Amino acid sequence: MAYIEFHNVKKSFGKNEVLKGITLEVEKGELVTLLGPSGCGKSTLLRCLSGLEEVTEGQIILDGKDITGVEPRKRNIGMVFQHYSLFPNMTVEQNVAFGLKLKKEPVEQIRESVRGILDTVGLAAQAGQYPSQLSGGQQQRAALARALVTRPKVLLLDEPLSAIDALLRHNLQVEIRRIQKELGITAIFVTHDQDEAMVMSDTIHLMYQGRMEQSGTPTQMYTHPATRFAASFIGHYNVLSRKEMETVFGVKTESEMTAFRPEVVSMKGREERGEAPKDAGNCCAAGIVTSGLSHGNILRYTVRCGSVQVDVDALFRSDRIWKEGQEVWLTLAERDCISL
Ligand code: ADP
Ligand code: MG
Repeated sequence: MAYIEFHNVKKSFGKNEVLKGITLEVEKGELVTLLGPSGCGKSTLLRCLSGLEEVTEGQIILDGKDITGVEPRKRNIGMVFQHYSLFPNMTVEQNVAFGLKLKKEPVEQIRESVRGILDTVGLAAQAGQYPSQLSGGQQQRAALARALVTRPKVLLLDEPLSAIDALLRHNLQVEIRRIQKELGITAIFVTHDQDEAMVMSDTIHLMYQGRMEQSGTPTQMYTHPATRFAASFIGHYNVLSRKEMETVFGVKTESEMTAFRPEVVSMKGREERGEAPKDAGNCCAAGIVTSGLSHGNILRYTVRCGSVQVDVDALFRSDRIWKEGQEVWLTLAERDCISL
């Protein structure tokens, strides 16, 4: 039996069925992410687990106990949201101590627990400061400390880093992962950012329109997307129909759809090589570069091959930078193609 189990959980708001039967298991000590586009039901699923929403149908088990009808404060679940919900008139220390005071724990024990958790999240020096005196990143650390200090059975993080700038966000991703592992806490992290999910997770659960689309480790999700949606959302795959594969790359495929990642395609100039550079196991297409955009150390080109557009990634250090309008050969190894 898993530590957390969702059994066919459905949730409707009026006639709008937002969760269409979610079945999901989370193991103890795992960090899983719910990944998916805005509006697919991620927050609603978390809110059903925390008890802030009642499920319309189905069952939720936590640590061997059916919690479906249990009131929120008895579920022992910690939450951190995108917008730091710290009390502005309390210091960091008072914010973090708040939950323990409600539980009427002895003062000395509260002080001890608060000091310990502030050390863990790296905020010991800010204990006496007010939220307005902290940076966004520090406020999220304080919110994390406040959620963790009561030793919840599970920690829920709903897009906690979405309002934080990119560089700091990456540091916090690594920090949250370290803290989660150090404390051995089970955590569910919600994000719409595939890179964030890849960095953070033991397991990724990809959601789409109120359903579970695919689950797996970051590597499985990146290398073996199961559906067209998974392929487009994780890894930015090119997806071509059978007909397009035949007319553009000249290969007959068995499957309806073929997916391949931008970085597995290689490019050569057609002026240096008049003939298609075709070897065994490869297929080729003639195309024209229509744009090239830098994504940090990667250049992403868009190449038009007849009526089809193919994205191609190259490292920025490549000897050759392609320009708009250049005629190229695209080469693709058949083993890099995934049937959908
Ligand atoms: P996500 O977190 O993946 O962006 P949500 O779970 O917040 O998505 O929302 C999923 C859908 O449920 C959206 O269409 C949203 O409008 C709807 N929804 C969420 N909460 C409510 C509510 N309290 N009342 C009515 N509709 C809601
Ligand atoms: Mg949400």
